[in-house]
Amino acid sequence: MPWCEPCARYHAPSALDSEGRCPSCGSDLSEQTERARNALAEERTPWHFKLLVVALIVYLVWRFVELFA
Ligand SMILES: [Zn+2]
Repeated sequence: MPWCEPCARYHAPSALDSEGRCPSCGSDLSEQTERARNALAEERTPWHFKLLVVALIVYLVWRFVELFA
């Protein structure tokens, strides 16, 4: 969410004009919007989430094996 310093408020990316400027004061917020978009794309599947899923599967398999041991 791009933060506008002069307005002291957040703007939804869709609320900005086509150049990525604040609709109220005209500050250029396009760089922030781009950065937020990149951060979102990178954090879609964090590595620690994958690790957690793998650990859960290993744990469940172990419990299943122990049941018949
Ligand atoms: Zn503004």
